Amino acid sequence: MNLVEDIEVLHARQMCNWPLAHDNYAALDGLLTRELWLDDGEGRSCARIVMQHNPERVRSTAADVSPEAISRRPCFLCKENQPPEQETVMWRYSQENGLERLYKIQINPYPIFKRHLTIASMQHEEQRCRYREMMALAHDLHGYVIMFNGEGCGASAPDHLHFQATLQDELPLCAELEARNGDGLDSCYGSFNELWMDNKLGRQLIYIRAHAMNSALISDMNIALNGWRRNALCWFKEDVWHFVYFPRKAGRPSCYGQEPGQYLVSPAAAEYGGVWVLPRKQDFYGLTPELIGSFYEELSFSAREMEFIYNDYGRVN
Ligand SMILES: [Zn+2]
Repeated sequence: MNLVEDIEVLHARQMCNWPLAHDNYAALDGLLTRELWLDDGEGRSCARIVMQHNPERVRSTAADVSPEAISRRPCFLCKENQPPEQETVMWRYSQENGLERLYKIQINPYPIFKRHLTIASMQHEEQRCRYREMMALAHDLHGYVIMFNGEGCGASAPDHLHFQATLQDELPLCAELEARNGDGLDSCYGSFNELWMDNKLGRQLIYIRAHAMNSALISDMNIALNGWRRNALCWFKEDVWHFVYFPRKAGRPSCYGQEPGQYLVSPAAAEYGGVWVLPRKQDFYGLTPELIGSFYEELSFSAREMEFIYNDYGRVN
């Protein structure tokens, strides 16, 4: 069996033997959802946003991710703190230096998506954007998109290396980026590798298409982003890797909170991919395309800061 088949078997088994997961996946069908379209500034719709009212996700959206709180709590990705019902499919990544890193793939018991995986290192080690591991995972998990949330921008376990994954058609941004052609930045890598850095889809992002695992574009950009917070997405389709970085200035907007006039939103890779998860009904109904656009703007790099990154990237390669 291949990895995707193993995951289907895992998912089906957990629906039978883990009532909490069963109930939360069954509840997905009944969640309120609606769609918004972001405007490109000239009156044209440029990107689709799916809003999901999901009360169970309050544990993540309202989580205290301060270093003090993280150091006090038992790590929910370490085996000794996980529920006995939670099962695992193992996945092995072979590093260039001959060492291996073992990951456990598990179903997320508090899902946003009908297939929602948590992929965590077997070791308790710090969260880092290990892009080659994301690419290898994307290759092996055909049809899935791998999501990375860095410390301070959505990672609820910044002390334990992990990714999440869902099916590519769950994130509107995947197809929107795949449809782009001919409007990227010039690059010296030839037509098989391409680079975009802009906010034409309503949020500043860096989008790279690559035909090889050892893509210099992706590794050079990772060096240029060193020290910056970021979310990332990676998927593999028709022999091409699609890699997206979202450099971040802040984790939560200044109007974050539960008081009147505030919003309980904690944008991470899913929200940057076009799915906004809203535990409170007033946020689900209250958010507008203008507000979503203003959150992306406040939390992402500015056009000027993206230029600095592009210059740093130019020095690296
Ligand atoms: Zn841990």
